[in-house]
Amino acid sequence: MEASTGERTARVHASATVFDGHCDSLACVLRAERSLGERSTSGHTDLPRLRAGGVTAQIFACGLHVFGKRSEQPTQLFLRMADAFHETLQRFPDQVMLATRGSDVVQAKEEGRIAAILGMEDGAPIAGELGILRIFYRLGLRVICLVWGPRNEIGDGVSRRTDAGEGLTPFGVSLVREMNRLGMVVDVSHLNEKGFWDVIEHSEDPIIASHSNARGLYDHPRNLTDRQLRALAERGGVVGVVFTFLHGDPASVTLATVLDHIDYIVDRVGPDHVGIGSDFDGLSSAPPAGLEDATCFPRITCGLLERGHREEDVQRILGGNFLRVFRAVTEHTPA
Ligand SMILES: [Zn+2]
Repeated sequence: MEASTGERTARVHASATVFDGHCDSLACVLRAERSLGERSTSGHTDLPRLRAGGVTAQIFACGLHVFGKRSEQPTQLFLRMADAFHETLQRFPDQVMLATRGSDVVQAKEEGRIAAILGMEDGAPIAGELGILRIFYRLGLRVICLVWGPRNEIGDGVSRRTDAGEGLTPFGVSLVREMNRLGMVVDVSHLNEKGFWDVIEHSEDPIIASHSNARGLYDHPRNLTDRQLRALAERGGVVGVVFTFLHGDPASVTLATVLDHIDYIVDRVGPDHVGIGSDFDGLSSAPPAGLEDATCFPRITCGLLERGHREEDVQRILGGNFLRVFRAVTEHTPA
């Protein structure tokens, strides 16, 4: 007899490596609002809620935008956020471990801990110096969202409703090459379209769009066109569907809208190039109904199974795809 959907969901979700490509929760730590080690009712994510949601790996982005427009020296601000990240790891070793390689994510899954990956959202802290990039690598930084909004030394981001601006600067090109050499993941979310095509041209490794949706479903410059989705997929990359930029009427979005974006991307490039990048604790609108916080991830599993996705494809979408790219880049293995 067929197992009930609830049983199938529990089984598939428990066996999956669930990988969230983006959250902004470190800002809450830095603002001293809460520690990530205790379950909170404010915000969307903390370690107990991630574990309750069956999440294995989380990219914790150090985003400068959450503190307003360049109110502080970006390098100093990044270092303070990286410190909050490492202090959290040290305070709660039973719940979380540092992940700098794909094998760390596998280990965290075996041990029932969260694999915490240090990310950067806006490469301004690198200040145009590859030496600073290399020091950040040594601090554990593994994912860089190159630009956020305003232009920096690397290139131009999308701001508000426009996707104007130039492509990568010569420094931006050298940064991508050095990230490839070191084993750091290039993240094109927030990058403008010209910059996207420059990354496609210059990156030898697969890339990610950690938190972006399909522009074919919702025409917003933060989302990727079908052409971009195909180029990213042809190079083995992954786009993490984000819980905002889903629909012209943000108040109407639900879990089903998120599943629509996943389905759209699967229809165009197959199930190997889509994941989840919640943007919890950084959402520009209320989270979709049904995805109120990090405990809700199993509902995505349930929804995908109900829509008829094969179990192995659901596992790829939940995190197998992100893990594949993270491992390929950080361990210099074929994607
Ligand atoms: Zn973002």
